[in-house]
Amino acid sequence: MAHIVQKYGGSSVGSVERIQAVAQRVYQTVKAGNSLIVVVSAMGKTTDGLVRLASEISKNPNRREMDMLLSTGEQVTIALLSMALQELGQPAISMTGAQVGIVTEAEHTRARILHIETDRLLRHINQGKVVVVAGFQGISSTEELEITTLGRGGSDTSAVALAAAIQADFCEIYTDVPGILTTDPRLVPEAQLMDAITCNEMLELASLGAKVLHPRSVEIARNYGVPLVVRSSWTDDPGTWVTSLKPQERSLVNLEIAKAVDAVEFDTNQAKVALLRVPDKPGVAAKLFGEIARQNVDVDLIIQSIHEGNSNDIAFTVTTPILKRAEAVAAAIAPALRNPSNPKSDEAEVMIEKDIAKVSISGAGMIGRPGVAAKMFATLAEASVNIQMISTSEVKVSCVVSSTDCDRAVAALSTAFEIETGEQASRGVEKVFNTQHSATPLATTEVPSRQSPQVGEPAHGAGSATPWLYPAGSRRSVYSTPHSRPVCGVALDMNQTRLAIRQVPDKAGMAAKLFGILAQHNISVDMIIQSQRCRLIDGVPKRDIAFTVPRMDGETAQKLLTQVAGELGWGEVVLDNAIAKVSIVGAGMVGQPGVAAKMFEALAQHQINIQMIATSEIKISCVVAQEQGVKALQVIHAAFDLAGSEKFVVPA
Ligand code: ASP
Ligand code: MG
Repeated sequence: MAHIVQKYGGSSVGSVERIQAVAQRVYQTVKAGNSLIVVVSAMGKTTDGLVRLASEISKNPNRREMDMLLSTGEQVTIALLSMALQELGQPAISMTGAQVGIVTEAEHTRARILHIETDRLLRHINQGKVVVVAGFQGISSTEELEITTLGRGGSDTSAVALAAAIQADFCEIYTDVPGILTTDPRLVPEAQLMDAITCNEMLELASLGAKVLHPRSVEIARNYGVPLVVRSSWTDDPGTWVTSLKPQERSLVNLEIAKAVDAVEFDTNQAKVALLRVPDKPGVAAKLFGEIARQNVDVDLIIQSIHEGNSNDIAFTVTTPILKRAEAVAAAIAPALRNPSNPKSDEAEVMIEKDIAKVSISGAGMIGRPGVAAKMFATLAEASVNIQMISTSEVKVSCVVSSTDCDRAVAALSTAFEIETGEQASRGVEKVFNTQHSATPLATTEVPSRQSPQVGEPAHGAGSATPWLYPAGSRRSVYSTPHSRPVCGVALDMNQTRLAIRQVPDKAGMAAKLFGILAQHNISVDMIIQSQRCRLIDGVPKRDIAFTVPRMDGETAQKLLTQVAGELGWGEVVLDNAIAKVSIVGAGMVGQPGVAAKMFEALAQHQINIQMIATSEIKISCVVAQEQGVKALQVIHAAFDLAGSEKFVVPA
């Protein structure tokens, strides 16, 4: 017998017929010998309808009353589904979040789950009943016992949290699409269904706008190792498995608000190569990284910053042993990037920096919690560590610093984020493989049927010590394992704005200031890039810093930063709305040369100029002109052979 949590979204329970179909599926699952908790959303577009009603009465409805209102949607569905099950002869009982004891913060309309009582749930289950739980809602931990909601789309989070709390064998998310696709099928009809994706990849894609799963549900799945599958409630197709590594032991208390950072890592085995003042035109990054890939040099971080005039800086890091080769490639290419009419100019100058280290914090949901990166930068500033390069992603924030600062940086970060020495990285690159996925394809073909989540061992390679969690009885082929392809998905984000701060003094504490101010206003920063070139202005070395924020926050961010610019010695704060961000995501790109080159080459072939580049271990993002965004997405998706032979039909 397996313990399963199933979640059905609004469209899956949108009518009486659909609720009856869901009851049938639940009934069959029980008959197959499983015990079940079923989480449901409000029927169809009920929640939207309730929001509309509220807006007709108030421009700015009270958040407590909003929760009171919106939580009613799910209460209708649980009662009806429970009745439908009883009609089939299946004992069932419906429960609201409060009745179960889904205890949350008192933050109305965006409460996070603190813990879940399991006694009542298990008592009913042990009596042979299916428990039908209202998704998206909980009860506050305060004396007032307020009804709370988790934020739109939050039923996924209810389901995965319940699965973590009762240590279910797996959690199934039923929806109206067949699973997780390689990109947005409305823009690329050839988008293909994935068999499997890792939680870390999914978090990157979710933050890039893939709406299939509430990102918080993926964070919980990752943190507690809940095997998760997204499937269509209309078919029996297998859907997409979202897999996680076996996590560190973690308490179920403060479920969603416990430690955001679970490790501090560092790598002193790094060197930086920068090409300064390269022409700002399509094809430059493709040429450079194409040649680097041909020499089989694996680059780690890549950044391309914007600069006034018509030139950019491109910098990348490699491991020290291959620095010589990387340097040779850069030096060989530089003359070709210079202006032929002025070959003696200072264009395309190569700069090498050997004494650097990369320090990182890893965890889940970093971009979504702007306070975490801000705290990292503030901690480094307090320890007088100057940051040379920054890389941000949902699962990791890394800073390149001088190698002499490395120990001090790691010690300060471990204290600040309460990381015990045991959890901390050992010197060198090994930790990268321990926490991050190796690039080695997993060879497990089939998992024998057992009751608890299975542990699959990768066949060989640096990652062989890290077990993957598989659900009992699932069939997996080599092709469905997360590492069989370097890139699993491509995302386009048209809702970003770029801000650039000119002439920021090159000293410790600047990123801390910048991020601190934005974090205070809960503004998430994604790509953040400092120009490599340093200019002396009135005797002070200065660099430009550019970064992207959600478009709706652009003007606020500009205003906030302009206010402090004078006192911090910053220049102008410039805003550019006409951008699009296109990203590739894949755990398999770690340790694989040529992935970035392929992305840049696809853009170059279509004359799409890259304005900014930023990477993290499992993501590469480029900023391009807004009107070229969709084209960029399409050509990159095609370049990585992600297109299927059939066109995907988007459900109405
Ligand atoms: N009914 C809620 C919403 O539409 C929660 C959910 O369906 O996940 O946001
Ligand atoms: Mg949803």
